Amino acid sequence: MTDIKEESGEKKSLNFIEQAIESDIKEGKNAGKIQTRFPPEPNGYLHIGHAKAICMDFGVAKKYGGICNLRFDDTNPVKEDTEYVDSIMEDIQWMGFQWENIYYASDYFQQVWDFAVELIKQGKAYIDEQNAEEIAKQKGTPTQAGTESPYRNRPMEESLALFNKMNTGEIEEGAMVLRAKIDMANPNMHFRDPIIYRVIKHPHHRTGDAWKAYPMYDFAHGQSDYFEGVTHSICTLEFEVHRPLYDYFVNELKETSLAGEAGYRPRQMEFNRLNLTYTVMSKRKLLTLVKEGLVNGWDDPRMPTICGYRRRGYSPESIRKFIDMIGYTKYEALNDVSLLEAALREDLNTRATRVSAVLNPVKLIITNYPEGQVEEMEAINNPEDQNSGMHHIQFGRELWMEREDFMEDAPKKFFRMTPGQEVRLKNAYIVKCTGCKKDENGEITEVYCEYDPHTRSGMPESNRKVKGTLHWVSCSHCLPAEVRLYDRLFKIENPGAEVDSDFRELLNPESLKVLTNCYVEKYLSELKPYSYLQFQRIGYFNIDKESTPEKLIFNRTVGLKDTWGKINHNPQK
Ligand code: ATP
Ligand code: MG
Repeated sequence: MTDIKEESGEKKSLNFIEQAIESDIKEGKNAGKIQTRFPPEPNGYLHIGHAKAICMDFGVAKKYGGICNLRFDDTNPVKEDTEYVDSIMEDIQWMGFQWENIYYASDYFQQVWDFAVELIKQGKAYIDEQNAEEIAKQKGTPTQAGTESPYRNRPMEESLALFNKMNTGEIEEGAMVLRAKIDMANPNMHFRDPIIYRVIKHPHHRTGDAWKAYPMYDFAHGQSDYFEGVTHSICTLEFEVHRPLYDYFVNELKETSLAGEAGYRPRQMEFNRLNLTYTVMSKRKLLTLVKEGLVNGWDDPRMPTICGYRRRGYSPESIRKFIDMIGYTKYEALNDVSLLEAALREDLNTRATRVSAVLNPVKLIITNYPEGQVEEMEAINNPEDQNSGMHHIQFGRELWMEREDFMEDAPKKFFRMTPGQEVRLKNAYIVKCTGCKKDENGEITEVYCEYDPHTRSGMPESNRKVKGTLHWVSCSHCLPAEVRLYDRLFKIENPGAEVDSDFRELLNPESLKVLTNCYVEKYLSELKPYSYLQFQRIGYFNIDKESTPEKLIFNRTVGLKDTWGKINHNPQK
Protein backbone atom coordinates (compact mmCIF):
# COMPACT_ATOMS: atom_id res chain seq x y z
CA MET A 1 0.00 0.00 0.00
CA THR A 2 1.06 3.52 -0.69
CA ASP A 3 1.53 5.85 2.23
CA ILE A 4 0.79 9.52 2.29
CA LYS A 5 1.02 12.19 4.95
CA GLU A 6 -2.38 13.34 6.06
CA GLU A 7 -3.06 16.93 7.10
CA SER A 8 -3.04 15.80 10.71
CA GLY A 9 0.51 14.59 10.28
CA GLU A 10 -0.69 11.06 10.88
CA LYS A 11 0.47 8.45 8.41
CA LYS A 12 -2.42 6.88 6.68
CA SER A 13 -2.56 4.36 3.89
CA LEU A 14 -4.66 5.00 0.83
CA ASN A 15 -7.79 2.97 0.27
CA PHE A 16 -8.15 1.14 -3.04
CA ILE A 17 -10.31 3.88 -4.56
CA GLU A 18 -7.78 6.57 -3.71
CA GLN A 19 -5.03 4.39 -5.16
CA ALA A 20 -6.99 3.97 -8.39
CA ILE A 21 -7.69 7.70 -8.59
CA GLU A 22 -4.02 8.51 -8.04
CA SER A 23 -3.02 6.21 -10.84
CA ASP A 24 -5.67 7.75 -13.13
CA ILE A 25 -4.20 11.15 -12.35
CA LYS A 26 -0.68 9.89 -13.06
CA GLU A 27 -1.80 8.45 -16.37
CA GLY A 28 -3.38 11.79 -17.24
CA LYS A 29 -6.87 10.34 -17.71
CA ASN A 30 -9.53 12.98 -18.32
CA ALA A 31 -6.70 15.54 -18.28
CA GLY A 32 -6.23 14.97 -14.57
CA LYS A 33 -9.71 16.26 -13.74
CA ILE A 34 -11.52 14.75 -10.73
CA GLN A 35 -15.26 15.04 -10.45
CA THR A 36 -17.59 12.90 -8.37
CA ARG A 37 -21.25 12.99 -7.45
CA PHE A 38 -23.36 11.81 -4.55
CA PRO A 39 -26.53 10.39 -6.15
CA PRO A 40 -29.29 9.78 -3.59
CA GLU A 41 -32.77 8.88 -4.68
CA PRO A 42 -35.08 11.33 -2.90
CA ASN A 43 -37.34 8.55 -1.61
CA GLY A 44 -36.36 8.61 2.06
CA TYR A 45 -34.05 10.17 4.59
CA LEU A 46 -30.33 9.46 4.49
CA HIS A 47 -28.97 6.78 6.79
CA ILE A 48 -25.49 6.11 8.11
CA GLY A 49 -24.80 3.92 5.06
CA HIS A 50 -25.25 7.00 2.90
CA ALA A 51 -22.87 8.81 5.23
CA LYS A 52 -20.20 6.34 4.18
CA ALA A 53 -20.87 7.11 0.51
CA ILE A 54 -20.90 10.85 1.29
CA CYS A 55 -17.52 10.67 3.01
CA MET A 56 -16.12 8.89 -0.03
CA ASP A 57 -17.69 10.99 -2.80
CA PHE A 58 -17.04 14.37 -1.20
CA GLY A 59 -13.85 13.22 0.51
CA VAL A 60 -11.89 12.14 -2.58
CA ALA A 61 -13.04 15.15 -4.60
CA LYS A 62 -11.67 17.43 -1.89
CA LYS A 63 -8.51 15.44 -1.41
CA TYR A 64 -7.61 15.54 -5.09
CA GLY A 65 -8.66 19.11 -5.78
CA GLY A 66 -11.79 18.14 -7.68
CA ILE A 67 -15.47 18.81 -7.21
CA CYS A 68 -18.41 16.78 -5.99
CA ASN A 69 -21.97 17.51 -7.07
CA LEU A 70 -25.16 16.49 -5.39
CA ARG A 71 -27.32 14.72 -7.93
CA PHE A 72 -30.79 13.60 -7.05
CA ASP A 73 -31.52 10.37 -8.79
CA ASP A 74 -35.17 11.16 -9.37
CA THR A 75 -36.19 8.68 -12.05
CA ASN A 76 -39.11 7.13 -10.18
CA PRO A 77 -41.74 9.80 -9.43
CA VAL A 78 -43.94 7.41 -7.45
CA LYS A 79 -41.68 7.26 -4.43
CA GLU A 80 -40.05 10.66 -4.54
CA ASP A 81 -40.82 13.85 -2.68
CA THR A 82 -39.37 17.31 -2.03
CA GLU A 83 -39.47 16.62 1.73
CA TYR A 84 -36.71 14.10 1.09
CA VAL A 85 -34.79 16.49 -1.16
CA ASP A 86 -34.66 19.07 1.65
CA SER A 87 -33.67 16.60 4.33
CA ILE A 88 -30.89 15.18 2.16
CA MET A 89 -29.35 18.63 1.68
CA GLU A 90 -29.55 19.37 5.40
CA ASP A 91 -27.94 16.07 6.33
CA ILE A 92 -25.03 16.37 3.90
CA GLN A 93 -24.19 19.81 5.24
CA TRP A 94 -24.49 18.65 8.82
CA MET A 95 -22.02 15.88 8.00
CA GLY A 96 -19.61 18.67 7.10
CA PHE A 97 -19.67 18.55 3.30
CA GLN A 98 -20.65 21.03 0.63
CA TRP A 99 -21.57 20.23 -2.96
CA GLU A 100 -20.39 22.28 -5.87
CA ASN A 101 -23.70 22.13 -7.78
CA ILE A 102 -27.07 20.53 -7.35
CA TYR A 103 -28.33 18.49 -10.27
CA TYR A 104 -31.20 16.13 -10.84
CA ALA A 105 -31.28 13.08 -13.06
CA SER A 106 -34.46 14.72 -14.40
CA ASP A 107 -32.25 17.55 -15.75
CA TYR A 108 -31.07 15.02 -18.32
CA PHE A 109 -34.44 13.51 -19.24
CA GLN A 110 -34.39 15.17 -22.65
CA GLN A 111 -30.84 14.08 -23.47
CA VAL A 112 -31.45 10.57 -22.24
CA TRP A 113 -34.62 10.44 -24.33
CA ASP A 114 -32.75 11.63 -27.39
CA PHE A 115 -30.13 8.95 -26.82
CA ALA A 116 -32.86 6.30 -26.59
CA VAL A 117 -34.34 7.56 -29.86
CA GLU A 118 -30.87 7.33 -31.40
CA LEU A 119 -30.52 3.70 -30.25
CA ILE A 120 -33.93 2.83 -31.72
CA LYS A 121 -32.90 4.41 -35.00
CA GLN A 122 -29.71 2.36 -35.01
CA GLY A 123 -31.71 -0.81 -34.40
CA LYS A 124 -30.25 -1.12 -30.89
CA ALA A 125 -33.49 -0.74 -28.99
CA TYR A 126 -37.08 -1.89 -29.49
CA ILE A 127 -40.48 -1.62 -27.95
CA ASP A 128 -41.57 -4.83 -26.28
CA GLU A 129 -45.30 -5.25 -25.71
CA GLN A 130 -44.96 -8.17 -23.34
CA ASN A 131 -45.63 -7.64 -19.68
CA ALA A 132 -42.96 -7.77 -16.98
CA GLU A 133 -43.77 -11.33 -16.05
CA GLU A 134 -43.37 -12.62 -19.60
CA ILE A 135 -40.13 -10.73 -20.03
CA ALA A 136 -38.79 -12.13 -16.77
CA LYS A 137 -39.64 -15.68 -17.87
CA GLN A 138 -37.53 -15.27 -20.99
CA LYS A 139 -34.45 -14.04 -19.14
CA GLY A 140 -32.93 -17.50 -18.78
CA THR A 141 -30.47 -18.32 -16.01
CA PRO A 142 -26.80 -17.48 -15.59
CA THR A 143 -25.94 -20.78 -17.27
CA GLN A 144 -28.79 -20.87 -19.77
CA ALA A 145 -29.40 -18.38 -22.55
CA GLY A 146 -32.60 -16.37 -22.54
CA THR A 147 -35.32 -16.42 -25.19
CA GLU A 148 -35.67 -13.60 -27.65
CA SER A 149 -38.81 -11.51 -27.49
CA PRO A 150 -41.22 -11.86 -30.41
CA TYR A 151 -40.99 -8.04 -30.75
CA ARG A 152 -37.22 -7.99 -30.94
CA ASN A 153 -37.00 -7.54 -34.67
CA ARG A 154 -39.91 -5.22 -35.23
CA PRO A 155 -39.26 -2.33 -37.66
CA MET A 156 -37.53 0.62 -36.10
CA GLU A 157 -40.27 3.02 -37.34
CA GLU A 158 -42.82 1.06 -35.35
CA SER A 159 -40.69 1.21 -32.20
CA LEU A 160 -40.15 4.93 -32.68
CA ALA A 161 -43.84 5.63 -33.00
CA LEU A 162 -44.69 3.52 -29.97
CA PHE A 163 -41.91 5.08 -27.92
CA ASN A 164 -43.46 8.49 -28.57
CA LYS A 165 -46.84 7.16 -27.53
CA MET A 166 -45.33 5.84 -24.30
CA ASN A 167 -44.59 9.41 -23.45
CA THR A 168 -47.84 11.05 -24.47
CA GLY A 169 -50.05 9.10 -22.11
CA GLU A 170 -51.63 6.92 -24.80
CA ILE A 171 -50.01 3.79 -23.42
CA GLU A 172 -50.97 2.31 -20.08
CA GLU A 173 -48.39 1.54 -17.40
CA GLY A 174 -46.93 -1.91 -17.94
CA ALA A 175 -48.39 -2.30 -21.43
CA MET A 176 -45.04 -1.87 -23.14
CA VAL A 177 -41.41 -1.04 -22.41
CA LEU A 178 -38.36 0.00 -24.35
CA ARG A 179 -35.57 -2.56 -24.28
CA ALA A 180 -31.99 -2.28 -25.43
CA LYS A 181 -31.26 -4.93 -28.05
CA ILE A 182 -27.97 -6.42 -26.89
CA ASP A 183 -27.54 -10.15 -26.36
CA MET A 184 -30.03 -12.62 -24.89
CA ALA A 185 -27.26 -15.21 -24.43
CA ASN A 186 -24.76 -12.99 -22.60
CA PRO A 187 -23.44 -14.61 -19.41
CA ASN A 188 -24.01 -11.24 -17.72
CA MET A 189 -27.77 -11.23 -17.26
CA HIS A 190 -27.85 -7.43 -17.34
CA PHE A 191 -27.03 -7.59 -21.04
CA ARG A 192 -30.05 -9.69 -21.91
CA ASP A 193 -32.00 -6.91 -23.54
CA PRO A 194 -32.42 -4.79 -20.40
CA ILE A 195 -35.55 -2.68 -20.01
CA ILE A 196 -34.47 0.94 -20.39
CA TYR A 197 -37.76 2.88 -20.37
CA ARG A 198 -41.15 2.28 -18.76
CA VAL A 199 -44.41 4.19 -18.43
CA ILE A 200 -45.21 5.83 -15.08
CA LYS A 201 -48.31 8.00 -14.94
CA HIS A 202 -47.59 9.72 -11.69
CA PRO A 203 -46.67 13.39 -11.51
CA HIS A 204 -42.97 13.98 -11.00
CA HIS A 205 -41.93 16.23 -8.08
CA ARG A 206 -39.99 18.46 -10.48
CA THR A 207 -41.12 17.89 -14.04
CA GLY A 208 -44.83 17.49 -13.24
CA ASP A 209 -46.47 15.59 -16.09
CA ALA A 210 -44.09 16.59 -18.84
CA TRP A 211 -42.96 12.96 -19.02
CA LYS A 212 -44.81 9.70 -18.92
CA ALA A 213 -41.89 7.52 -19.96
CA TYR A 214 -39.04 7.28 -17.47
CA PRO A 215 -35.57 5.78 -17.89
CA MET A 216 -34.48 2.88 -15.71
CA TYR A 217 -31.49 3.25 -13.37
CA ASP A 218 -29.07 1.55 -15.77
CA PHE A 219 -30.09 3.83 -18.58
CA ALA A 220 -30.00 7.02 -16.53
CA HIS A 221 -27.05 6.81 -14.20
CA GLY A 222 -24.11 6.45 -16.55
CA GLN A 223 -25.61 8.92 -19.01
CA SER A 224 -26.18 11.48 -16.27
CA ASP A 225 -22.57 10.94 -15.15
CA TYR A 226 -21.45 11.49 -18.71
CA PHE A 227 -23.46 14.65 -19.38
CA GLU A 228 -22.39 16.09 -16.05
CA GLY A 229 -18.68 15.45 -16.46
CA VAL A 230 -18.26 12.92 -13.65
CA THR A 231 -14.87 11.22 -13.85
CA HIS A 232 -15.27 8.75 -10.98
CA SER A 233 -18.72 7.36 -10.36
CA ILE A 234 -18.31 5.68 -7.01
CA CYS A 235 -21.05 3.38 -5.75
CA THR A 236 -21.60 0.26 -3.70
CA LEU A 237 -20.68 -3.31 -4.57
CA GLU A 238 -24.10 -4.45 -5.74
CA PHE A 239 -23.53 -2.31 -8.85
CA GLU A 240 -20.33 -4.13 -9.79
CA VAL A 241 -22.31 -6.50 -12.04
CA HIS A 242 -23.93 -3.49 -13.71
CA ARG A 243 -20.59 -1.94 -14.60
CA PRO A 244 -20.20 -3.66 -18.01
CA LEU A 245 -23.63 -2.31 -18.98
CA TYR A 246 -22.66 1.13 -17.65
CA ASP A 247 -19.61 1.04 -19.92
CA TYR A 248 -21.64 -0.31 -22.84
CA PHE A 249 -24.11 2.59 -22.77
CA VAL A 250 -21.32 5.13 -22.31
CA ASN A 251 -19.57 3.66 -25.35
CA GLU A 252 -22.76 3.82 -27.38
CA LEU A 253 -23.39 7.37 -26.24
CA LYS A 254 -19.89 8.42 -27.25
CA GLU A 255 -20.68 7.27 -30.78
CA THR A 256 -23.61 9.69 -31.08
CA SER A 257 -23.79 13.39 -31.75
CA LEU A 258 -24.96 13.90 -28.17
CA ALA A 259 -21.51 13.00 -26.87
CA GLY A 260 -19.40 16.15 -27.04
CA GLU A 261 -15.83 15.87 -25.81
CA ALA A 262 -14.26 12.77 -27.33
CA GLY A 263 -11.53 11.84 -24.87
CA TYR A 264 -13.64 11.98 -21.78
CA ARG A 265 -15.00 8.90 -19.99
CA PRO A 266 -16.51 8.33 -16.54
CA ARG A 267 -15.32 5.34 -14.53
CA GLN A 268 -17.55 3.40 -12.16
CA MET A 269 -15.94 2.00 -9.00
CA GLU A 270 -17.52 0.06 -6.17
CA PHE A 271 -16.89 -0.32 -2.45
CA ASN A 272 -18.61 -2.32 0.29
CA ARG A 273 -21.80 -1.08 1.91
CA LEU A 274 -22.01 -0.12 5.52
CA ASN A 275 -24.18 -2.55 7.45
CA LEU A 276 -24.63 -2.12 11.16
CA THR A 277 -25.56 -4.63 13.85
CA TYR A 278 -28.92 -4.31 15.65
CA THR A 279 -30.50 -2.18 12.95
CA VAL A 280 -31.74 -2.29 9.39
CA MET A 281 -30.42 -0.08 6.63
CA SER A 282 -32.97 -0.45 3.87
CA LYS A 283 -34.98 2.66 3.14
CA ARG A 284 -38.04 0.55 2.52
CA LYS A 285 -37.90 -0.93 6.01
CA LEU A 286 -37.09 2.39 7.63
CA LEU A 287 -40.09 3.91 5.84
CA THR A 288 -42.27 1.10 7.20
CA LEU A 289 -41.10 1.82 10.75
CA VAL A 290 -42.02 5.48 10.29
CA LYS A 291 -45.34 4.90 8.50
CA GLU A 292 -46.57 2.32 10.98
CA GLY A 293 -45.61 4.46 13.95
CA LEU A 294 -43.17 1.87 15.28
CA VAL A 295 -40.75 4.76 15.81
CA ASN A 296 -41.46 8.46 16.24
CA GLY A 297 -40.55 9.69 12.78
CA TRP A 298 -37.42 9.63 10.63
CA ASP A 299 -35.42 11.43 13.29
CA ASP A 300 -36.39 9.14 16.13
CA PRO A 301 -33.11 8.82 18.03
CA ARG A 302 -33.23 5.03 17.63
CA MET A 303 -33.20 5.27 13.84
CA PRO A 304 -29.96 4.73 11.87
CA THR A 305 -30.76 7.86 9.89
CA ILE A 306 -28.40 10.81 9.93
CA CYS A 307 -31.14 12.99 11.43
CA GLY A 308 -31.82 10.28 14.03
CA TYR A 309 -28.17 10.27 15.07
CA ARG A 310 -28.16 14.06 15.15
CA ARG A 311 -31.20 14.13 17.41
CA ARG A 312 -29.70 11.42 19.58
CA GLY A 313 -26.60 13.52 20.25
CA TYR A 314 -24.03 12.11 17.82
CA SER A 315 -21.55 14.60 16.43
CA PRO A 316 -20.77 14.51 12.71
CA GLU A 317 -17.12 14.04 13.68
CA SER A 318 -17.93 10.82 15.53
CA ILE A 319 -19.71 9.38 12.49
CA ARG A 320 -16.82 10.37 10.23
CA LYS A 321 -14.34 8.84 12.66
CA PHE A 322 -16.26 5.57 12.63
CA ILE A 323 -16.40 5.50 8.83
CA ASP A 324 -12.69 6.10 8.79
CA MET A 325 -12.15 3.21 11.20
CA ILE A 326 -14.14 0.66 9.17
CA GLY A 327 -12.63 1.80 5.88
CA TYR A 328 -13.53 0.90 2.30
CA THR A 329 -13.04 -2.60 0.94
CA LYS A 330 -14.30 -4.94 -1.75
CA TYR A 331 -15.96 -7.33 0.72
CA GLU A 332 -19.38 -7.04 2.29
CA ALA A 333 -19.31 -7.03 6.07
CA LEU A 334 -21.53 -6.42 9.07
CA ASN A 335 -20.10 -3.59 11.15
CA ASP A 336 -20.36 -3.80 14.91
CA VAL A 337 -22.37 -0.92 16.36
CA SER A 338 -20.15 -0.99 19.45
CA LEU A 339 -17.36 0.29 17.22
CA LEU A 340 -19.53 3.26 16.28
CA GLU A 341 -20.25 3.83 19.95
CA ALA A 342 -16.57 3.65 20.82
CA ALA A 343 -15.84 6.34 18.21
CA LEU A 344 -18.71 8.35 19.64
CA ARG A 345 -17.47 8.16 23.24
CA GLU A 346 -13.99 9.13 22.17
CA ASP A 347 -15.32 12.16 20.36
CA LEU A 348 -17.86 13.26 22.96
CA ASN A 349 -15.24 12.98 25.68
CA THR A 350 -13.53 15.98 24.13
CA ARG A 351 -16.77 17.81 23.31
CA ALA A 352 -19.35 17.25 26.03
CA THR A 353 -20.04 19.66 28.88
CA ARG A 354 -19.94 17.88 32.24
CA VAL A 355 -23.07 18.43 34.28
CA SER A 356 -25.02 16.72 37.02
CA ALA A 357 -28.35 15.01 36.66
CA VAL A 358 -30.09 12.64 39.03
CA LEU A 359 -32.24 10.16 37.15
CA ASN A 360 -33.66 8.11 40.00
CA PRO A 361 -33.74 10.57 42.89
CA VAL A 362 -33.83 10.10 46.64
CA LYS A 363 -33.40 13.00 49.05
CA LEU A 364 -30.13 13.43 50.91
CA ILE A 365 -30.18 15.71 53.99
CA ILE A 366 -26.93 17.03 55.44
CA THR A 367 -28.08 17.30 59.00
CA ASN A 368 -25.20 19.47 60.25
CA TYR A 369 -25.34 21.93 57.34
CA PRO A 370 -26.91 25.28 58.30
CA GLU A 371 -30.49 25.64 57.13
CA GLY A 372 -30.93 28.28 54.48
CA GLN A 373 -27.21 28.36 53.62
CA VAL A 374 -26.29 28.16 49.95
CA GLU A 375 -22.77 27.89 48.56
CA GLU A 376 -21.90 28.54 44.97
CA MET A 377 -19.26 26.29 43.48
CA GLU A 378 -17.39 26.11 40.23
CA ALA A 379 -17.84 23.13 37.97
CA ILE A 380 -15.31 22.64 35.17
CA ASN A 381 -17.14 22.27 31.88
CA ASN A 382 -14.75 19.80 30.37
CA PRO A 383 -11.46 18.63 31.88
CA GLU A 384 -10.38 17.46 28.40
CA ASP A 385 -10.70 20.95 26.96
CA GLN A 386 -8.87 23.77 28.70
CA ASN A 387 -10.83 26.41 26.81
CA SER A 388 -14.22 25.10 27.82
CA GLY A 389 -14.40 27.20 30.99
CA MET A 390 -16.68 26.50 33.91
CA HIS A 391 -20.16 27.15 35.17
CA HIS A 392 -21.65 27.59 38.62
CA ILE A 393 -23.55 25.09 40.68
CA GLN A 394 -25.27 25.60 44.02
CA PHE A 395 -24.93 23.48 47.12
CA GLY A 396 -27.34 23.38 50.06
CA ARG A 397 -28.58 21.30 52.96
CA GLU A 398 -30.97 19.20 50.86
CA LEU A 399 -29.80 17.44 47.75
CA TRP A 400 -31.05 14.84 45.32
CA MET A 401 -28.85 11.80 44.91
CA GLU A 402 -29.30 8.56 42.94
CA ARG A 403 -31.27 5.91 44.76
CA GLU A 404 -28.75 3.28 43.61
CA ASP A 405 -25.98 5.18 45.36
CA PHE A 406 -27.40 4.31 48.78
CA MET A 407 -27.54 0.92 50.47
CA GLU A 408 -28.50 0.34 54.05
CA ASP A 409 -26.72 -3.00 54.33
CA ALA A 410 -23.96 -2.74 51.80
CA PRO A 411 -21.44 -5.37 50.80
CA LYS A 412 -17.78 -4.59 51.46
CA LYS A 413 -16.96 -3.23 48.06
CA PHE A 414 -19.87 -0.79 47.94
CA PHE A 415 -17.95 2.49 47.98
CA ARG A 416 -20.99 4.72 47.85
CA MET A 417 -23.44 5.94 50.51
CA THR A 418 -23.96 3.53 53.41
CA PRO A 419 -24.13 4.25 57.15
CA GLY A 420 -20.74 4.93 58.70
CA GLN A 421 -18.91 5.41 55.38
CA GLU A 422 -17.42 8.59 53.94
CA VAL A 423 -17.87 9.65 50.35
CA ARG A 424 -17.15 12.82 48.43
CA LEU A 425 -19.96 14.83 46.92
CA LYS A 426 -18.53 15.90 43.57
CA ASN A 427 -17.15 19.48 43.56
CA ALA A 428 -18.27 19.86 47.21
CA TYR A 429 -17.60 18.20 50.57
CA ILE A 430 -16.78 14.87 52.07
CA VAL A 431 -19.83 13.57 53.94
CA LYS A 432 -20.40 10.63 56.26
CA CYS A 433 -23.67 8.75 56.02
CA THR A 434 -25.61 8.49 59.26
CA GLY A 435 -28.74 6.61 58.28
CA CYS A 436 -32.02 6.83 56.42
CA LYS A 437 -35.79 7.06 56.80
CA LYS A 438 -38.29 4.65 55.27
CA ASP A 439 -42.01 4.72 54.65
CA GLU A 440 -44.49 2.03 55.74
CA ASN A 441 -43.54 -0.12 52.74
CA GLY A 442 -39.88 -0.10 53.61
CA GLU A 443 -39.10 2.28 50.72
CA ILE A 444 -36.29 4.67 51.55
CA THR A 445 -37.54 8.25 51.53
CA GLU A 446 -34.56 10.17 52.91
CA VAL A 447 -30.87 9.54 53.45
CA TYR A 448 -28.94 11.40 56.15
CA CYS A 449 -25.33 12.43 56.37
CA GLU A 450 -23.01 14.93 58.05
CA TYR A 451 -20.50 16.99 56.20
CA ASP A 452 -16.95 17.94 57.17
CA PRO A 453 -16.68 21.73 56.59
CA HIS A 454 -12.90 21.49 56.05
CA THR A 455 -13.11 19.25 53.03
CA ARG A 456 -14.61 21.46 50.39
CA SER A 457 -12.92 20.77 47.03
CA GLY A 458 -9.80 22.90 46.83
CA MET A 459 -9.23 23.12 50.63
CA PRO A 460 -6.09 21.53 52.07
CA GLU A 461 -8.03 18.78 53.83
CA SER A 462 -9.95 18.00 50.70
CA ASN A 463 -7.21 15.55 49.78
CA ARG A 464 -8.40 13.09 52.38
CA LYS A 465 -8.85 9.72 50.73
CA VAL A 466 -12.36 8.48 50.22
CA LYS A 467 -13.21 5.69 47.87
CA GLY A 468 -16.34 7.05 46.22
CA THR A 469 -17.43 10.31 44.60
CA LEU A 470 -21.13 10.84 44.05
CA HIS A 471 -23.02 13.32 41.90
CA TRP A 472 -25.96 15.29 43.22
CA VAL A 473 -28.09 18.37 42.57
CA SER A 474 -29.39 20.85 45.11
CA CYS A 475 -33.12 20.47 45.74
CA SER A 476 -33.76 24.19 45.67
CA HIS A 477 -31.52 24.88 42.68
CA CYS A 478 -32.45 22.16 40.24
CA LEU A 479 -35.08 21.68 37.57
CA PRO A 480 -37.31 18.71 36.85
CA ALA A 481 -36.60 16.94 33.59
CA GLU A 482 -37.65 14.12 31.35
CA VAL A 483 -34.88 11.78 30.30
CA ARG A 484 -35.23 9.36 27.40
CA LEU A 485 -33.06 6.29 27.54
CA TYR A 486 -32.51 4.63 24.20
CA ASP A 487 -31.25 1.19 23.48
CA ARG A 488 -30.71 -0.96 20.40
CA LEU A 489 -33.70 -0.76 18.05
CA PHE A 490 -33.60 -4.49 17.30
CA LYS A 491 -33.00 -7.34 19.70
CA ILE A 492 -30.96 -9.47 17.31
CA GLU A 493 -27.62 -8.74 15.74
CA ASN A 494 -28.54 -8.90 12.07
CA PRO A 495 -32.27 -8.27 11.65
CA GLY A 496 -31.77 -7.36 7.98
CA ALA A 497 -30.65 -10.91 7.20
CA GLU A 498 -33.71 -12.62 8.72
CA VAL A 499 -35.91 -13.96 5.96
CA ASP A 500 -38.25 -16.18 7.94
CA SER A 501 -39.58 -13.59 10.34
CA ASP A 502 -41.26 -10.25 9.95
CA PHE A 503 -38.65 -7.63 10.84
CA ARG A 504 -41.21 -5.82 13.00
CA GLU A 505 -41.23 -8.77 15.36
CA LEU A 506 -37.50 -8.43 15.89
CA LEU A 507 -37.79 -4.94 17.37
CA ASN A 508 -36.38 -4.55 20.88
CA PRO A 509 -39.41 -3.81 23.10
CA GLU A 510 -37.10 -2.02 25.52
CA SER A 511 -35.50 0.31 23.02
CA LEU A 512 -37.03 3.38 24.70
CA LYS A 513 -37.51 4.02 28.39
CA VAL A 514 -38.80 7.42 29.48
CA LEU A 515 -37.90 8.70 32.94
CA THR A 516 -40.16 11.55 34.01
CA ASN A 517 -38.95 12.14 37.55
CA CYS A 518 -35.40 13.37 37.04
CA TYR A 519 -33.60 16.46 38.29
CA VAL A 520 -30.87 18.39 36.55
CA GLU A 521 -28.83 21.40 37.50
CA LYS A 522 -30.37 24.75 36.63
CA TYR A 523 -27.59 25.69 34.23
CA LEU A 524 -29.01 23.28 31.67
CA SER A 525 -31.98 25.54 31.00
CA GLU A 526 -29.54 28.04 29.48
CA LEU A 527 -28.20 25.64 26.86
CA LYS A 528 -29.58 25.12 23.36
CA PRO A 529 -31.15 21.96 21.95
CA TYR A 530 -28.59 19.49 20.57
CA SER A 531 -25.90 20.62 23.09
CA TYR A 532 -23.49 17.79 23.86
CA LEU A 533 -23.51 16.82 27.53
CA GLN A 534 -22.05 14.31 29.89
CA PHE A 535 -24.23 13.50 32.88
CA GLN A 536 -21.39 12.67 35.20
CA ARG A 537 -21.09 9.00 36.13
CA ILE A 538 -24.05 8.14 33.86
CA GLY A 539 -23.36 8.76 30.22
CA TYR A 540 -23.49 11.14 27.31
CA PHE A 541 -26.75 12.97 26.74
CA ASN A 542 -28.04 15.83 24.68
CA ILE A 543 -30.89 18.26 24.84
CA ASP A 544 -33.80 17.14 22.68
CA LYS A 545 -35.05 19.44 19.95
CA GLU A 546 -38.44 19.58 21.70
CA SER A 547 -36.95 20.61 25.03
CA THR A 548 -37.90 24.04 26.43
CA PRO A 549 -36.68 25.78 29.59
CA GLU A 550 -40.13 24.99 31.03
CA LYS A 551 -40.01 21.33 30.09
CA LEU A 552 -36.52 20.03 29.78
CA ILE A 553 -36.05 16.84 27.76
CA PHE A 554 -32.80 14.93 27.40
CA ASN A 555 -31.80 12.01 25.22
CA ARG A 556 -29.24 9.45 26.23
CA THR A 557 -26.74 9.35 23.41
CA VAL A 558 -24.64 6.50 24.81
CA GLY A 559 -23.57 5.18 28.19
CA LEU A 560 -20.08 5.85 29.51
CA LYS A 561 -19.12 2.23 28.98
CA ASP A 562 -20.28 -0.53 26.71
CA THR A 563 -22.71 -2.50 28.86
CA TRP A 564 -24.74 -4.25 26.16
CA GLY A 565 -22.75 -7.47 26.37
CA LYS A 566 -22.73 -7.45 30.17
CA ILE A 567 -26.46 -6.98 30.58
CA ASN A 568 -26.76 -9.75 28.01
CA HIS A 569 -29.81 -8.61 26.14
CA ASN A 570 -28.89 -10.86 23.31
CA PRO A 571 -30.11 -14.40 23.88
CA GLN A 572 -27.78 -15.69 21.17
CA LYS A 573 -24.68 -14.69 23.08
P1 ATP B 1 -31.51 1.68 0.09
O1 ATP B 1 -31.07 0.36 -0.43
O2 ATP B 1 -31.39 1.86 1.55
O3 ATP B 1 -32.85 2.13 -0.43
P2 ATP B 1 -30.17 3.03 -1.98
O4 ATP B 1 -28.91 2.41 -2.39
O5 ATP B 1 -31.34 2.80 -2.85
O6 ATP B 1 -30.45 2.69 -0.48
P3 ATP B 1 -29.65 5.69 -2.82
O7 ATP B 1 -30.37 6.90 -2.39
O8 ATP B 1 -29.82 5.21 -4.18
O9 ATP B 1 -30.05 4.56 -1.77
O10 ATP B 1 -28.12 5.80 -2.44
C1 ATP B 1 -27.30 6.90 -2.75
C2 ATP B 1 -25.87 6.46 -2.65
O11 ATP B 1 -25.59 5.97 -1.36
C3 ATP B 1 -25.54 5.37 -3.63
O12 ATP B 1 -24.31 5.66 -4.24
C4 ATP B 1 -25.46 4.14 -2.78
O13 ATP B 1 -24.55 3.21 -3.33
C5 ATP B 1 -24.98 4.70 -1.45
N1 ATP B 1 -25.42 3.86 -0.35
C6 ATP B 1 -26.67 3.47 -0.05
N2 ATP B 1 -26.68 2.64 1.00
C7 ATP B 1 -25.39 2.50 1.41
C8 ATP B 1 -24.73 1.77 2.45
N3 ATP B 1 -25.42 1.00 3.30
N4 ATP B 1 -23.40 1.87 2.56
C9 ATP B 1 -22.69 2.64 1.72
N5 ATP B 1 -23.24 3.35 0.71
C10 ATP B 1 -24.57 3.29 0.55
MG1 MG C 1 -30.56 3.28 -5.09
